[in-house]
Amino acid sequence: METMSNSIRVQRTSQSRLKEIDFSNLAFGQHIADHMIVAEYADGKWGEASVLPYGEMTMSPAILSLHYGQAIFEGMKAYKTSSGVITIFRLKRHHERMNRSLERMCMPPIPYNLFEQSLTTLIDVDRDWIPTSEGASLYIRPVVFASEARLGVKVSDQYKFVIMTSPVGPYYSKPLRVKVEETYVRAAEGGAGFAKCAGNYGVSFYPTQMARKEGFDQVLWTDAKEHKYIDEAGTMNVMFVIDGKLVTPRLTTAILDGITRDSILTLAKEMDIVVEERKVSVEELIETHKQGSLTEAFGAGTAAIVAPIATINIHGKDYTLPPTSEGSIQARVKKKLTNMRLGLEKDNHEWNFTL
Ligand code: PMP
Repeated sequence: METMSNSIRVQRTSQSRLKEIDFSNLAFGQHIADHMIVAEYADGKWGEASVLPYGEMTMSPAILSLHYGQAIFEGMKAYKTSSGVITIFRLKRHHERMNRSLERMCMPPIPYNLFEQSLTTLIDVDRDWIPTSEGASLYIRPVVFASEARLGVKVSDQYKFVIMTSPVGPYYSKPLRVKVEETYVRAAEGGAGFAKCAGNYGVSFYPTQMARKEGFDQVLWTDAKEHKYIDEAGTMNVMFVIDGKLVTPRLTTAILDGITRDSILTLAKEMDIVVEERKVSVEELIETHKQGSLTEAFGAGTAAIVAPIATINIHGKDYTLPPTSEGSIQARVKKKLTNMRLGLEKDNHEWNFTL
């Protein structure tokens, strides 16, 4: 056991699995790197984090997260440039969002120093797991869950904070065929849609499976009250190009405040693209498609950055969009964002946290 300068204890694995990994063929989330961070919350405070060999944890089946759903997570990425510099994209913003999710689920916030130090120590220990090929990165998965073993319905008094990482290859998304979902909802206003809590994903599986059976890749979630306005695209935020403007649903308590969404909107404004954050109705999509002013639709999220949407099915009818070109707004903002993440362009916003 070694102790890093920031007091995080590190227990290295004696059996690295790194050599077993085929870095030219990485399925998303398939391989988990050698080490993980573990910290525990008890008696009203977070204890110190340790880096441990990644592996199983022993827990009671009575832990409260399994029964009552106090579990949240984050998803972010680290990159290694050709000169060997390691960066983590928008670490502070992910930390802020994680604490908003924790607050909504009555879970204790993670102090910034604990987050930054444990994450940077882990990435440093597993630095050889960061792929260097184009478009590849180390996906980072922090998770916090209630670990008190007790059957009564209550807010847990004990939690675990774990961070795992996984090398991921470039994400080539074929243009998606999506369906406007008008029966099921992912989240309602006043609920927890803005939080990255486990339950939001559990409830979305069934409607998504139903849509897949009908031949769709994803669903476009609509508002819970009237199914009139677009919320998100599966597990991505959604953006449209209407009359040459970049249009996206304004954030509500039912929508996740995506960090890719925010990054794209920020960069688009700097590229003199007109940005509108407002309600986007299903009716507007039909109308603007008819007029030919709806020219692009895409999902925005950490995994794909930008995932083009080719077809939107509304009330059972397909509305197809023209194929995307290099000059499309989605291609331009994706390029700008990719270059910024790789340090090929000036990082005016200090989004790249350098190790
Ligand atoms: N919406 C949902 C429901 C998501 O799970 C994600 C992925 N985190 C996003 C949007 C996109 O968020 P981000 O850009 O921060 O990855």
